[in-house]
Amino acid sequence: MKNVPLYLAGEFVDSQTSEWIDVTNPATNEVIAKAPCTTDAEMRKAIESAGEMFKTWKEVPVSERARVMLRYQALLKEHHDEIAEILAQETGKTFDDAKGDVWRGIEVVEHAANVASMMMGETVENVAREVDTHSWIQPLGVCAGITPFNFPAMIPLWMFPMAIACGNTFILKPSEQDPMTPMRLAELFEEAGAPKGVLQVVHGGKEQVDVLLTDPAIKAVSFVGSVPVGRYIYETGTRNMKRVQSFAGAKNHMVILPDADKQQVINALVGASVGAAGQRCMAISVAVFVGEAQQWIPELKEAMAKVRPGAWNDSGASYGPIISAKAKDRIESLIATGEAQGAKLLLDGRGCTVDGLPDGNWVGPTLFSGVTTEMDIYNEEIFGPVLSCVETDTLGDAIELVNKSPYGNGVSIFTSSGGAARRFQHEIDVGQVGVNIPIPVPLPFFSFTGWKGSFYGDQHAYGKQAVRFYTETKTVTSRWFSSEATSTEANFSIQL
Ligand code: NAD
Repeated sequence: MKNVPLYLAGEFVDSQTSEWIDVTNPATNEVIAKAPCTTDAEMRKAIESAGEMFKTWKEVPVSERARVMLRYQALLKEHHDEIAEILAQETGKTFDDAKGDVWRGIEVVEHAANVASMMMGETVENVAREVDTHSWIQPLGVCAGITPFNFPAMIPLWMFPMAIACGNTFILKPSEQDPMTPMRLAELFEEAGAPKGVLQVVHGGKEQVDVLLTDPAIKAVSFVGSVPVGRYIYETGTRNMKRVQSFAGAKNHMVILPDADKQQVINALVGASVGAAGQRCMAISVAVFVGEAQQWIPELKEAMAKVRPGAWNDSGASYGPIISAKAKDRIESLIATGEAQGAKLLLDGRGCTVDGLPDGNWVGPTLFSGVTTEMDIYNEEIFGPVLSCVETDTLGDAIELVNKSPYGNGVSIFTSSGGAARRFQHEIDVGQVGVNIPIPVPLPFFSFTGWKGSFYGDQHAYGKQAVRFYTETKTVTSRWFSSEATSTEANFSIQL
């Protein structure tokens, strides 16, 4: 068992704290490491060091900053399997899924290496006689990121490579439930040539996050996590005059029209609902069967019943355990509530066991039909391998249902009708739409564009929007006299 270090002022150091948080292997519930609750003095050191480093890092030419990202991308690829193994052990994800988590982050680093063209300003010559205007895109200063447990590689990599490529310095507070993956990312970042102090990593929970939300030296905060915490972060950060982007929870629907390909629908629903044990913010948790498509539910049940969870290195397992015993208990209690509120429990994942791992947080694939919008299993983000089937008569009814949801992260339609797909993508109030694609996560040259209660803020993660989030625009208007025609008299009113 090891103590997870802090990354402070360019050194990997043991915290002086007396408070430690257990990091467990969710397949066994054994404690595999301890994460420190960073002390106030250590938090201060991280903020001061990041502030000091900003003075020199912002002067580093943009092409040199981009080259750090190029080397980092190569190193992450070289260590892809090794990082995925650390990640799989602390999250329980299957090895292939853990590799996917790392890969999605590597793609953002690739994108960050293109930062120069995204930082180009605008120019207009002769905005007035012999007067020109140009704009520059400049970094903000010290930025902070607070990340969830469910993508411990991808989500930190959504944040610090983009912020740092833009010329900022960054303080990361990863999830206390799986902090070892982000620490490995930090080690490799230094190895890639990132100067010491450009990235700092602190650990802990609310107390440490509150320091980041209130310290005036922090200019911008990126957050990904649950709805109540996301709202708190947005409200507290903006009250403290910071720029905040806050990505929160979700309840994603997949709408199935009867003209869709049945087998594609079933495969997509099984993978997107129970993959990663349903612990994805873009997981499909509600299947909306329109009209005769409802007849496919028994075949969906058969397909889901064949899926089983297992250990990260069990090649026959489709997904791993739930992150903690507490989260597992919550999922099981929501399944009980679903049944009590009248939904039909077609597959019950409670009491699931895995050979050789009796203490893991296992939940089997769970399927409900006859779910209505009043039920808790429809309204709550369950964040487990639980799929709720809702039935509607028409596409219009399905669109209305989705649009009434307070969330707006992802949605999907399965159909063979271009007209229906066109109408759906136009009318749906959700930020990321899939057509015959169950989990439409945009690649990093776009942005991750959740809407409504799934996102608080305006500029989203990665893509051009991240560059806008992590920078400020400066507009310079200049006059250089090159002819005798220029007036040198004083002006007392705005010139027309
Ligand atoms: P969480 O909200 O419990 O924790 C997220 C982070 O906030 C952690 O670093 C945690 O230490 C910190 N935190 C927890 N409580 C806090 C408090 N009271 N004050 C300040 N900070 C606090 O989320 P989680 O369980 O780690 O992650 C799962 C959630 O993340 C799900 O709701 C999921 O939908 C969401 N998520 C959203 C997206 C997205 O892009 N919208 C992506 C991934 C995950």
